[in-house]
Amino acid sequence: MSEPIHVRGVVLPEGEQRDLYVVDGQVTYDAPRDAQTVAQGWVLPGLVDAHCHVGLDVNGPIDEPAQEQQALDNREIGALLLRDAGSASDTRWIDDRADLPRLIRAGRHLARPKRYIRNFAHEIEPHELSAYVAQEARRGDGWVKLVGDWIDRDLGDLGPCWPREALEQAMTTAHEHGARVTAHVFGEHALPDLIGAGIDCIEHGTGLSEDLIDTMAAGGVALVPTVKQLDLFPNYAGAAAEKFPTYAGHMTALFERRKSTIAAAYEAGVPVYAGTDAGGVLPHGLIAEEVAGLAEYGLSAYDALGAASWRAREWLGLNATLEEGAPADLVVYPADPLQDLAVLTSPSRVVLRGRVVR
Ligand SMILES: [Zn+2]
Repeated sequence: MSEPIHVRGVVLPEGEQRDLYVVDGQVTYDAPRDAQTVAQGWVLPGLVDAHCHVGLDVNGPIDEPAQEQQALDNREIGALLLRDAGSASDTRWIDDRADLPRLIRAGRHLARPKRYIRNFAHEIEPHELSAYVAQEARRGDGWVKLVGDWIDRDLGDLGPCWPREALEQAMTTAHEHGARVTAHVFGEHALPDLIGAGIDCIEHGTGLSEDLIDTMAAGGVALVPTVKQLDLFPNYAGAAAEKFPTYAGHMTALFERRKSTIAAAYEAGVPVYAGTDAGGVLPHGLIAEEVAGLAEYGLSAYDALGAASWRAREWLGLNATLEEGAPADLVVYPADPLQDLAVLTSPSRVVLRGRVVR
């Protein structure tokens, strides 16, 4: 076991000045003998990237050294718990590495044939969905990921991927397997059936309407907006403008009202979590920018930070706060992130499972 360490600082979110110790990978406020002081400042429960993909780049699966680098890019910025929202790689080896972030996986994306990024998903038909949900629920860590909508090239626009009946069956199957279900959704039309069928979370959610937001808030259905991904909508629209002008116009419209859509969900009380959508198009390690983006969309600094720390940890089944006995995953900053979220880009210390890793 590693030597006891000591961190003196304001422990967030409570905001109390404390002497925090780490013994055998756990937080304690009982001073052990011989603890070495490793940092002073503002202390935050380890950050969470609630939507990223370890093991994917823009072309599909990547090898283990590249997977390791993605995990390290997250660790460097203090993202110590990653909700993997679908990966075509087997990343189980990461679980044996105490020096790499904790991963909560959703298995591999489930999509319709030719209705998602090549090499990413199991591409299946609706009658196969329930069986694949069961399979991915067994492979994952309590989540299953559906591609809820994508461009339908015959339609020339975004279109729903799954009929209602298949979704209802899929949700039942997932829940019977103890897994929650989430779905990628950019547009409006896939949302009523996904939410009506009992989904647990929506990724992106740019097509949400007021009534669906109210349903989500009432049912505690979460939203992970992925601000960093939404920033790319103009690129997708631009690339498609010539061949699929309707789709391009639709993506542009969703982009233009993204802030008011996400702000409406937040104000209605939909639980919002911070996810960068790294892996694929975006690089890993952008959680600080994602939090800043959520604040720019209208979340208070406290809620934007909670969305990437204590609230997200609790949602994913870990200790929310740095209470006595909690796993010692924490980040120390030289200034108060609640006063200035920009400090998230430069943590002074990162402690993972009780060890100083930065
Ligand atoms: Zn994603």
